[in-house]
Amino acid sequence: MKKLFSKLYKNGNDDFNEEMSKWLKNNKKQFIVTANPETFMKSKDDNEINTLLLDEDTILVPDGIAIVKTANMLGYNIKERIAGIDIANQLLEEGNKQKKSIYLFGSKQEVIDDLIKTIVEKYPNLTIAGSSNGYKEDKDKVFDEIVSVKPDIVLVALGIPAQEKLIYKHLDRFDKGIFVGVGGSFDVMSGHKKRAPKIFIKLNLEWLYRIACEPKRIKRFYDSNVKFMFKALNRRNKND
Ligand code: UDP
Repeated sequence: MKKLFSKLYKNGNDDFNEEMSKWLKNNKKQFIVTANPETFMKSKDDNEINTLLLDEDTILVPDGIAIVKTANMLGYNIKERIAGIDIANQLLEEGNKQKKSIYLFGSKQEVIDDLIKTIVEKYPNLTIAGSSNGYKEDKDKVFDEIVSVKPDIVLVALGIPAQEKLIYKHLDRFDKGIFVGVGGSFDVMSGHKKRAPKIFIKLNLEWLYRIACEPKRIKRFYDSNVKFMFKALNRRNKND
């Protein structure tokens, strides 16, 4: 896990937004993984995830207060959490400014439809290169379409780790594009689900709000976050 911690982006939201703006301007190809404890935990038993996280071209951002706090306790100087949904919103903003194009893949069809309505209204200069809901059986075929339309931004909302694996599998087929797995962000961006009130976000308690709204998340939270902190801190002196 040490290698993963040392790969985490350290400088916080403002600097990261600037980086994304530059990548877009220069048509750079960039895969962003918003890493939370679940991602780190899964990497231990899943070689595919481990490989994609450690790939030197993959950028890992700390999406979760447990990641930030644990990293800092282990001596890595991580400024703050960078949430997947904030990255997604920033890419819409910046893509609109730079008149770029976007492909939206994932979530239910009605969510995608409402998200597109919002984008057309709020970001008129951002071209929607295409979209697909996340429940198609052949997800590789969706990527054939994404490759053919050459979007500048590709947001994939299928949940961890399916979204990251799929992006990584097809990444070599692209010359440009910013690729991010954004989990449940489309549900919130489309208005189908509410994000936590600002005070929860500010106090780093967004996880608590999500559990309160969806109590079935508690097992997932325990399995990833709680076990993760114990494991990571226990290993403080080991080399894994
Ligand atoms: N999803 C999908 N296809 C699937 C399974 C999930 O498109 O086969 C979508 C689901 O509709 C939701 C997102 O993936 O929008 C995952 O959301 P979740 O809140 O579980 O992700 P998290 O942010 O917790 O990783």
